Amino acid sequence: IVNRPKMPQYPDLDRWILVEKLGHGAFSNVYRARDSTTEFGEVAIKVLRSFQMDSNQRANILNEVQIMRNIDHPNIVKLIDFFESHQFCYIILELCTGGELLPQIVRLSYFSEDLSKHVIVQVAKAIEYLHETSGVVHRDIKPENILFVSVPFTPSKNPKPQQPGDEDKEDEGEFTSKFGSGGIGEIKIADFGLSKVIWDNRTGTPCGTVGYTAPEIVNDEQYSMGVDMWAMGCVLYTLLCGFPPFYDESIQVLTKKIACGQFIFLSPWWDHISKSAQDLVSHLLIVDPKKRYNIKEFMEHPWIRQADEETVFTV
Ligand code: ADP
Ligand code: MG
Repeated sequence: IVNRPKMPQYPDLDRWILVEKLGHGAFSNVYRARDSTTEFGEVAIKVLRSFQMDSNQRANILNEVQIMRNIDHPNIVKLIDFFESHQFCYIILELCTGGELLPQIVRLSYFSEDLSKHVIVQVAKAIEYLHETSGVVHRDIKPENILFVSVPFTPSKNPKPQQPGDEDKEDEGEFTSKFGSGGIGEIKIADFGLSKVIWDNRTGTPCGTVGYTAPEIVNDEQYSMGVDMWAMGCVLYTLLCGFPPFYDESIQVLTKKIACGQFIFLSPWWDHISKSAQDLVSHLLIVDPKKRYNIKEFMEHPWIRQADEETVFTV
């Protein structure tokens, strides 16, 4: 018999048996839970402390749930149910047992190009569905919100990049053969807490507008999907080298660096990474959202297309 830590008791949650805590956010705890009626098996339950929220934040929960209700894609966590008690909101979600992407990047130091492709293509398929089918902008794409469906296949740590002129062919060989094209596992994106419906795909116009919308609003709406593309650029950069494109101890300096899109492909970490991968990252981390790649352009980039032709994905 395993000694489990005592789980908190929430009101009106009797059908679900909390098993372990999976994560948390500003107003939420997320648990792995078992369905006592066995209809759904294991699920994730996001418990939101609505009693600590103002009316705006409460409205955001309903927005999150409403958006998730209309979404159905293999690379997006599915909503199973939603209900409220006096002080809490419960979002019942499809369970991902493999944890977040970030610890896997930390564990491997960085991902090979094949593995990076394997992950980012799955993120891109989710984004393509959101942008082109649902008219939804996720607005919070980051490694904490990218989850592995099951424990990822990660045999061992990558070798540290060599200093220039100090190549170690054996390490390189090991590096590619281990990770080949088998992938690392299926991923899903989570957390629609900041997401927004911006485009009505039925009418092809910005949401909730009739004929009086100013052109700058129409334009803004059209390019607001670019926030997800920028974030995908940051995720791809981080996958490939193990650290983010923009970083500074000072939040002011960091904000400035981001505002002017000031990043470099830092040597020696980027020396072994293909020009094609760098080209794709460069087209995502562009300050002007009109010039930044959209999801279509991303999907058509040679580095991505090559992945589709050569790699057999599990999804
Ligand atoms: P917040 O809006 O507070 O960031 P999230 O929805 O991102 O809440 O959930 C917080 C964390 O809980 C996630 O980063 C992840 O680690 C975990 N989590 C969320 N949803 C699931 C899920 N469906 N399966 C497994 N873990 C999850
Ligand atoms: Mg989150």
